[in-house]
Amino acid sequence: MGEGLLTSHRDAAPRAEAGFVRRDGWLHADAVALADIAGFAGTPAYVYSASVVRAQYARLDAALEGVPHRLHYSVKANGNLALLALLRELGAGVDIVSAGELYRAQRAGFGGRDVVFSGVGKTVTELEQAVAADVKLVNVESEAELRLLADVARRVGRVVPVALRVNPEVEVETAHHYTRTGARGDKFGIPYDEAREVARLASSLEGIRLAGLDMHIGSQLTRIEPYADGLARLLELRANIDADGGGEGLRYLDIGGGLGVTYDAESEADLDAFARIVVPAAKASGLELVMEPGRFLVGNAGVLLTRVLYRKRSGGKDYVITDAGMTELLRPSHYNAFHRIEPIGPAGEAGVVDVVGPVCESGDFFARDRSLGDVEPGDLLAISSAGAYGAVMSSQYNARPRVPEILVDGERVALARERESFEDLVRHENATPEWRTL
Ligand SMILES: *Cc1c(COP(=O)(O)O)cnc(C)c1O
Repeated sequence: MGEGLLTSHRDAAPRAEAGFVRRDGWLHADAVALADIAGFAGTPAYVYSASVVRAQYARLDAALEGVPHRLHYSVKANGNLALLALLRELGAGVDIVSAGELYRAQRAGFGGRDVVFSGVGKTVTELEQAVAADVKLVNVESEAELRLLADVARRVGRVVPVALRVNPEVEVETAHHYTRTGARGDKFGIPYDEAREVARLASSLEGIRLAGLDMHIGSQLTRIEPYADGLARLLELRANIDADGGGEGLRYLDIGGGLGVTYDAESEADLDAFARIVVPAAKASGLELVMEPGRFLVGNAGVLLTRVLYRKRSGGKDYVITDAGMTELLRPSHYNAFHRIEPIGPAGEAGVVDVVGPVCESGDFFARDRSLGDVEPGDLLAISSAGAYGAVMSSQYNARPRVPEILVDGERVALARERESFEDLVRHENATPEWRTL
């Protein structure tokens, strides 16, 4: 990737060609026709619009303007290095959930102080790496993790800034229960009624500085009330910690990610209403606001481009079989998620079809009983809202090499990840492994 590839349009006003729009009947990413991208990269391929990422970042950043804050992009939504570099240039930090994501963030130019380390099951090695990297916050999810981290810190003579990830036990509605993380009994976070005690412990442990309070209540939230409820509980906890004399090192109020985007007709989270709740509360607390948005920044910045291989009728159903499948985009199969699908060019009259992939699983589908313009084998489809939890969840199942990721910025196109080769499929395997006894 060339110098300045991502920065040259940085301060330009939003352009008319930003995002995924149809021009003369053909769908474009920014100024580039998706048909041309298919010619360049082949299919299937992920296509990301840098303009959309910039616009979403700017919207959220502006909404939080009234309070000191930093957006720590959740790497697990899409960890592509070029996207990470773009977000770093915009001023983002990162939120990571593994040492692998720490490595990605560092490769994209982030420093330790840009990093918030989340996750319910950090290993001792990961904690050691977090300490060595001098991260801004380790978001601790249990008393046992806190004690382990204190041991690690003492061993190397460091004091580690810690935020307690509390389960605020709020009512959360998400599209699928797999994406709900802040209700009573979920595996995430310290149960609310134990948090004060764990905070006392944190304040007493050598090697630990209690620097923040944290929650992450779920993903694809389109109602904002859970943030208000969760925030109220964090602030109540903060008052209790102050009363216990443990609050003087507190600097950060981390409200996690979870802001929803539009996949279909659902309304997007109301950013103004969100800001009206969060900004005054954060401001009154005197703490720096930390947010960990993933999907909100990149979800609608990507499409999966796929070619129709076949059409067939079976059992009274019309099937459109595409060259992409659950191996590329797992969300329909895993979360029963809805993704808009449209032909990238003009198409005949719509009919009701199932859009399915080539993988040998009945769960390999993108849409069922969906109205889709009449397409022929060879035609190209765009599967929308595929920028978050798309490429990162892809697999090589059925020995399918992972697909390329293309970043578009205005009129320019960059190969942000190459298509894997067959050699990549077997790179770490050995047909004649060396036998040994242990
Ligand atoms: C997944 C995750 C996020 C990001 O969630 P989005 O719904 O993509 O915004 C933020 N924080 C933590 C701890 C997470 O696990």
